[in-house]
Amino acid sequence: MSPIESNLQQARRSIDAAIAGCAKTRQQEVSLVAVSKTHSADAVRAAFAAGQRAFGENYAQEGVAKIAVLSGLKPHGIEWHFIGPLQSNKAGLVAAHFDWVQSVDRLKIAHALSARREGPPLQVLIEVNVSNEVSKSGVAPNETLAFAREVAVLPQLNVRGLMSIIEPAADTNLQRAQFQSLKSLFEQGRAEGLGFDTLSMGMSGDFALAIAEGATMVRLGTAIFGARASKSPSQERAA
Ligand SMILES: *Cc1c(COP(=O)(O)O)cnc(C)c1O
Repeated sequence: MSPIESNLQQARRSIDAAIAGCAKTRQQEVSLVAVSKTHSADAVRAAFAAGQRAFGENYAQEGVAKIAVLSGLKPHGIEWHFIGPLQSNKAGLVAAHFDWVQSVDRLKIAHALSARREGPPLQVLIEVNVSNEVSKSGVAPNETLAFAREVAVLPQLNVRGLMSIIEPAADTNLQRAQFQSLKSLFEQGRAEGLGFDTLSMGMSGDFALAIAEGATMVRLGTAIFGARASKSPSQERAA
């Protein structure tokens, strides 16, 4: 068994254990996005061979290059998620090649994605900044639902829910509070009929807690592909 295959099995087991730890009424399926940024197309191929279908990329050019190399997997169900900061001059590239964009946080970008999307609508998540850190991307929590309503009217975008990156905190209660505020926004959106069905929160270091607090999708890079040259996503996002 390849290291990637055994990492995937381990991740799946940990996800299932976290789901089993939830109260019976709150148990739900959790989908796994394997974050392949900085890793090779061969690494993605190995994960695909082990049954993984959804992959996350942070950089438009790097992602599109990998998607092109692996285009043979498209008819076999590979699914590409753009999860990084998005500039409007890359919106066309992303709209043309990815299936999901999890990092929509500006109306200008949303319009550009919708305008450039051909074929089936792009599945999108609204990125929320629940850590209140000024340097980070994401919509402010109190503006999120109004923003989601504006994005939802765009013809080629299908708003599926919310995504957030939680600041790694030494204090578990602080992390839990951030997951909870995202979950509460998500439930408000559902109650308002926004059609949310996806709450993407949790990464390698905190996904069990995220699932306990209601995540329906987790994004794991290090846990599946091993360490990257640069460690924290906030560092990478600033690069
Ligand atoms: C890099 C990244 C991840 C994966 O991080 P790991 O800690 O390696 O699991 C998840 N989400 C986003 C948005 C990222 O940039």
